[in-house]
Amino acid sequence: MENYQAILIHPDVKGGRISGNLSIKNNCIYFENEELTHQINFINLTINTGGASNRFIFFADKTNTEISIYTSDKKVLKNNLLASNKNFKSEISKSKSDLRKTLKGVLIAIALVGIFITGLYLAKDKMVEKIADQVPASWEKEAGDKLFSTLSLQYKFIKNDSLEKEFLKVAQPLLKQIEKDGFKVDLYFVKDPTINAFALPGGKVIIQTGLIENAKSWEEVMGVVSHELSHVTRRHHIRGIINNLGIFTILSAAFGDVSALAGTFLNVGGELASLSNSRDFEHEADETGWKYLVQAKINPKGLITFFETLSKEEKANEIKSKVDETIDLSFLSTHPNTKDRISALKEKLKGDKSAYIKLPDNFEKFKIELLKQKIN
Ligand SMILES: [Zn+2]
Repeated sequence: MENYQAILIHPDVKGGRISGNLSIKNNCIYFENEELTHQINFINLTINTGGASNRFIFFADKTNTEISIYTSDKKVLKNNLLASNKNFKSEISKSKSDLRKTLKGVLIAIALVGIFITGLYLAKDKMVEKIADQVPASWEKEAGDKLFSTLSLQYKFIKNDSLEKEFLKVAQPLLKQIEKDGFKVDLYFVKDPTINAFALPGGKVIIQTGLIENAKSWEEVMGVVSHELSHVTRRHHIRGIINNLGIFTILSAAFGDVSALAGTFLNVGGELASLSNSRDFEHEADETGWKYLVQAKINPKGLITFFETLSKEEKANEIKSKVDETIDLSFLSTHPNTKDRISALKEKLKGDKSAYIKLPDNFEKFKIELLKQKIN
């Protein structure tokens, strides 16, 4: 004999209901637990569904509407003694169909919630961009300056006006493109053998001597600088911070008041330093960086050849781990999958027939001069 977990509703039991087992025998529905038994004779029995979202099967007593036994175990409807009884045929088939409808409703609800959540995440990037657009550039600049003053304590800056002037002269066509997008670039050289360059929110670019030392041409250096500046113009720092806020904060900021986020940006310096660019941002910076180079008529192939040097160096020296100890905004630590990116960029080069300007042939001379510089 089969047993089904069930609950008895009865005015005489404490609290009005009690749990136990349901069984079917001798033309009766039986409820029993350690304390009591109760039975409803088939003659007085009605069967239907009910309860929260119609998921329970109720066995009620026609002679006493205050008493019923219910279970969530659908198998009870297949019980031989019940199913073979002609009197219950229509009630059982109606109950089955009610349960199916409930299940269908639940599935549709789950599907709708799934679609909504997927939509939310797909829309998240757009919302983040929208919020970032509303964040005043001054907040970003201030955060970048704050971070710079912290970082500068540990940096050995090279101050040489004529080298700076030389670099800016070569970079001029590229920097013009950045200025068109409303950003002013500040350039800093730092004496450090690590192959590294990075940009801070607002437009400060830090170039370490190791980058120049390992580059083979102006085109390569400009490729890296263009990529780094694209992180600035695409506002990746601020978008990264907003991205980390969580979907509900983002939702409320997207549909409400961005000024509510002001507090988040007040102490943003520390957060910026630990922020690493996502794969999407890297891809975006490659794309935008490439675009700037083409617009500046600087051959973008330099970005590819530099990546190739980088991937060789990474393999040979495991430079990556060394750079990871410094700030995460650095060029290397945030540039995984160098191989994938090289092939993506090579795709862009295919069919490229643009005419590029010839950059000065004084790169090697510049390199030697820069590396000679002493720090006082
Ligand atoms: Zn990057």
